[in-house]
Amino acid sequence: MKFGGTSVGDVAAFERVFHIVSSQIERRPVVVVSAMTKVTDALLNAFEMAKKGEFAEAFASLESHFERHVSVAEHFIPEGSSNLFDAELQFAREELSDLLMRTSRRSLPLSMLKDAIVSYGEQLSSRLLAEVLKAKGVNARQMDSRRLVVTDDEFGAAQPLWEETRDLVRLDLQPAIASGEVPVMGGFIAANRAGETTTLGRGGSDYSAALVAAALGASELQIWTDVTGVMTCDPRICGEARTIPVLSYEEAAELAYFGAKVLHPKTIKPAVDHGIPVRVCNTFEPDEIGTMVLAESGESPNKIKSIAHKKNITILRITSARMLGSYGFMSAVFQVFERYRTVIDVISTSEVSIALTLDNTAEIEKIVADLSRLGDVESEPGYAVICVVGDGLRASTGLASKIFSTIDDVNIALVSHGASSVNLTFVVREGVAPEVIKKLHRVFF
Ligand code: ADP
Ligand code: ASP
Ligand code: MG
Repeated sequence: MKFGGTSVGDVAAFERVFHIVSSQIERRPVVVVSAMTKVTDALLNAFEMAKKGEFAEAFASLESHFERHVSVAEHFIPEGSSNLFDAELQFAREELSDLLMRTSRRSLPLSMLKDAIVSYGEQLSSRLLAEVLKAKGVNARQMDSRRLVVTDDEFGAAQPLWEETRDLVRLDLQPAIASGEVPVMGGFIAANRAGETTTLGRGGSDYSAALVAAALGASELQIWTDVTGVMTCDPRICGEARTIPVLSYEEAAELAYFGAKVLHPKTIKPAVDHGIPVRVCNTFEPDEIGTMVLAESGESPNKIKSIAHKKNITILRITSARMLGSYGFMSAVFQVFERYRTVIDVISTSEVSIALTLDNTAEIEKIVADLSRLGDVESEPGYAVICVVGDGLRASTGLASKIFSTIDDVNIALVSHGASSVNLTFVVREGVAPEVIKKLHRVFF
């Protein structure tokens, strides 16, 4: 059972989590929890301040977040009873002070310090949740994810090493579960082989939960969040969004990748590989069924399931007469992106040009400089990718025409269709994206 940040935001939220966990105790759950809402952002912010040398301000900016933890602890844990959370918080304060100081002095590699700092969100939330559950009579035990999930050295977006992780999770968790304990671990955080703290990328708690579920051969992975399942589009954009009862893994993966952040993109993989059903449920409406993600959705094809979108997209266009009839050109282009470790989302090519989209523009100047050796390069920020997802989209006749005629007053900058049988993706100016999504939603749902 994975609980997201909004599911552990305050006293009322912890109370809800207690009820949900205790109602399924006989299913022998493992709990994976995110940092309390806004805490990861606050830690990243503190890191950025410390980097600029503002050490004292950085540390002070965390105080209100420590206080939020303290008020939950004070509410649930009786005064005078043994309480591992207080000691943990004291330790976290000292460590964070030290880490922020090191950041301002740059006395260790910054990427390493950043992960060490940001990991305190999940370290604190998992300790707090374990103590709250214990105070309410659940036989909970906090487990340090950094001793369970082993990753490579890519700080900030580390890749788990599956076999090592699986073996450690089994070794530590199985005996605990067998003896009736409920393990509570932080999502998102892990460690490399040297024992240095790493993180799995924003939204990575879903991924941690999927890894643990896969390692233990769980009967189900439950993702508890603040909406009732995966919906026909982001409910924040369109109030008419509805819950999708069943999704295939492939559909869920496309949706997650293209911005439906309710599921982390990589969540799908360990679950698919091990045939574990994933259920997305609402902490605020625990009796609603939510969305089941299964190997096959088993529904009729030719149906659109959902519309995902991702903002802050930059389009790059590379034009070169050298591309005409030559081979190796695409490979040369891709090598540039590989060199700067930048992911391409959508791509479309003609005889003499390539258009592609990026959401990470950290290295864009260097990328453009290198690509300029291959041809003329234009870069244009301010776009949004819109991705229409449904099993059997490729095979259905007339669907693309229906989609584009619905939005015939909008300029489409780029289209990609056919690579995956479950999505049709196009790019529009960011400003018109909400309107486009609402229009499509009205017509298709
Ligand atoms: P958590 O903290 O539980 O991990 P997230 O904020 O990562 O929660 O994901 C839940 C949010 O995802 C929702 O509040 C919603 O605004 C957003 N979202 C985007 N697209 C969708 C979609 N298609 N269905 C449901 N939620 C979506
Ligand atoms: N706390 C991390 C984040 O905000 C991981 C997660 O919530 O899944 O990105
Ligand atoms: Mg999330």
